[in-house]
Amino acid sequence: MIPFNKPPYTGDEDSHVLKAMRAAKMSGDGEYTVRCHEWFERNLGSPKVLLTPSCTQALEMAALLIDIQPGDEVIMPSYTFVSTANAFVLRGARIVFVDVRPDTMNIDETLIEAAITERTKAIVPVHYAGVACEMDVIMAIADKHNLYVIEDAAQGMMSTYKGKPLGTIGHLAAYSFHDTKNYTSGGEGGLLLINDKKFIARAEIIREKGTNRSQFWRGMVDKYTWVDVGSSYLPSELQAAYLYSQLENAERINSARRRLWHGYYEAFSGLSGALLELPVVPQECEHNAHMFYLKLASLQVRTAFIDSLKAQGIIAVFHYVPLHSSAYGASWSTFHGEDKYTTQESERLVRLPIWYGMTDAEQSSVIAAVRKALETV
Ligand SMILES: *Cc1c(COP(=O)(O)O)cnc(C)c1O
Repeated sequence: MIPFNKPPYTGDEDSHVLKAMRAAKMSGDGEYTVRCHEWFERNLGSPKVLLTPSCTQALEMAALLIDIQPGDEVIMPSYTFVSTANAFVLRGARIVFVDVRPDTMNIDETLIEAAITERTKAIVPVHYAGVACEMDVIMAIADKHNLYVIEDAAQGMMSTYKGKPLGTIGHLAAYSFHDTKNYTSGGEGGLLLINDKKFIARAEIIREKGTNRSQFWRGMVDKYTWVDVGSSYLPSELQAAYLYSQLENAERINSARRRLWHGYYEAFSGLSGALLELPVVPQECEHNAHMFYLKLASLQVRTAFIDSLKAQGIIAVFHYVPLHSSAYGASWSTFHGEDKYTTQESERLVRLPIWYGMTDAEQSSVIAAVRKALETV
């Protein structure tokens, strides 16, 4: 059996996690968390980052930071993970979905402006498969209408848009280190990226249960006290140590994934045509090979294709049943304009196995099985 994913593992994790286990302090913001923060701030040029226990929680912090109130509207694609919307629904926001572009499956930047009302507070672009949204256009719209941009860059670490790392362009952004992503902090983890400096002080307070404990540790105040709303948004040092091992190997992981991605792309580009489409990567986007997907003719063909691969011992998956199609999602949202591509394209898409450490032999088996499946479906 060839699984769909294996959590990234480099071999360096063992010694770092052991060291964290034996440290005097295993709770949040210890030595490994500081080292991870330094790595991101140095490599991304982001003014401030904060590790969180998940990307979901980084998005929740973003919703608190921009002070979402009941009735505020937030614009995003419906083709995304539930947390992109839930983080704002938790604060009472209404979600306004707009259609995706069929080439990248990212929010269609040309449809955003028409969805803005006087209640709109933020735009949340999701960089699907680690391929950037059209950020220059999105930032210009936000600027013109005085809105915040929160990048859901859960899949976007090590990708760039016009040379800028994803997650460093919007006012705030979130990464995920869940074990299905390119880098993991031991199964679950996330990062809040703060690009607008006005949010830094309050983010530290919200993350420390609404207290000024971070300032206390730094000797800036002589006692710590309750000053704002907040929650516990710190991961343990075990998670940070695991992630740190992967950050030290970030380039190695990225190039291995990219090699696999191109292996698939070359193998299938001869086959592509009306019935089979390959991922599209706009020229200004350098991507991290988070995902390799194919688009097939229809839902029916996709189901037969996945079954055929399964019979050949290979697990391929689809995802993101559009959020507006669920009863709960519908109750909190409006789909602005026509759903021309979101539902249709989501039903055609299938993701192939790809992980750090996948062997050439494993990839060859997948390629052969895909060819066979395409002949029969
Ligand atoms: C994985 C993912 C999330 C959630 O990440 P967690 O770390 O599991 O909370 C959010 N948005 C998108 C687009 C994702 O792919």
